[in-house]
Amino acid sequence: MLEELKKRVFEQNLALVKNGLVVLTWGNVSARDGETGCIVIKPSGVPYDTMREGDMVVVDEKGNTVEGNYRPSSDLPTHLYLYKQYPTLGGIVHTHSSYATAFAQSGRAIPAYGTTHADAFYGSVPCARALTNEEIDEAYEWNTGKVIAEAVSDIEAIPAMLVKNHGVFTWGKSPEKAVENAVTLEEVAKMALLTERLNPSTPEIDQHLLDKHYFRKHGKNAYYGQK
Ligand SMILES: [Zn+2]
Repeated sequence: MLEELKKRVFEQNLALVKNGLVVLTWGNVSARDGETGCIVIKPSGVPYDTMREGDMVVVDEKGNTVEGNYRPSSDLPTHLYLYKQYPTLGGIVHTHSSYATAFAQSGRAIPAYGTTHADAFYGSVPCARALTNEEIDEAYEWNTGKVIAEAVSDIEAIPAMLVKNHGVFTWGKSPEKAVENAVTLEEVAKMALLTERLNPSTPEIDQHLLDKHYFRKHGKNAYYGQK
C-alpha cells in the first residue's frame, strides 16, 4: 500500500544524506497520506546505503504498524504528536544537523539576521524548553512532540523548531517541503553563527525587510518563482 508515498519518503530520507544533514542512521523523514491518515516513516536503525523503498514502514495515526518488515523509527511518537496536533502537515523531518543542533545544544533560538532566513522563516527559529525528568521517563518521544507544540506560535510561518540539547524538527505540507526546510535551517544556522563571530552585536534583520522577503514567497501576495 501507499507505494508512491513510500518511494517519496525513501527518496527524501536519502536527500538528508545527500545534503549533509545526517550521518550514520541519525535522522528521519515521514509523510502523512491525506486519504487514509496513515503515516509512512523510515525504519529504525537501517543504514541508508542498504535501505530500500520497500523498507519504509506504514503506521496508522496511533502508531500501529499497518505494513512493513521493520520497526518504525524510534522518533515515531514525536511525528505522531505533531501530525495529530496540526492537521495540515504532510511531512516531518528530524535531524541532528551540526549548526542548527549547536544552537539547540546552547538552548538558543536561531536569530533572523538576513534575507536567506526571511525567505523561509518569518522570524527567529525558537528552541523548545527542556523536558522534565518525569517527561523523559514517562514518554520521551511523545513528550518531545509536546514541548515542540508548546513553543510553536504559527506552524506555517516558522516551519521548524529546535529541541534543547537534541536537534531539530522541520515540517511542511509535503515531505519534500519538510526536507527543503531542514536544508535551509541548517544553512541559516551556519550563517547566523558566522555572522555572530564577525560581529557579536549584529542586530536582527529589520522588520520591513523581513516582511518583504517572507511575503514575496508566502501568502496571497507572493510573486517569487514561476506561475
Ligand atoms: Zn534525534
